[in-house]
Amino acid sequence: MPDGSFHPCERTGNVMPIGDVKAGIVPARVGRLQREFHDALTDRCRDCWALRLCGLCFAAQASCSDRTGAKVPPSALCEALCRTQERALTLVVRTLALPDERRAWLEATKVS
Ligand code: SF4
Repeated sequence: MPDGSFHPCERTGNVMPIGDVKAGIVPARVGRLQREFHDALTDRCRDCWALRLCGLCFAAQASCSDRTGAKVPPSALCEALCRTQERALTLVVRTLALPDERRAWLEATKVS
């Protein structure tokens, strides 16, 4: 940040300071952030089918923390994330079920 403070990324705003230009990155603050993130979501994630596909990160936690003071991102965020992953997996399954010539066309036209 312009004031010299360090944060996990540009999307976490000012609510997750982890040090500054004088002190450097403070390991204890990083550890606390990791624990808070883990504690906030462990119960919800434990039974979530999308766990290995999940992209929820500190930015989501920082966003809700900044707006409401809550440490746990709203469940609606998780539901939206699961729907997105479900649509992506559905597309994969549908693509794999296509006849060979159609899949070959997709392979030939894919952007690399
Ligand atoms: S979508 Fe939510 S509950 Fe599922 S793994 Fe991600 S953070 Fe956890």
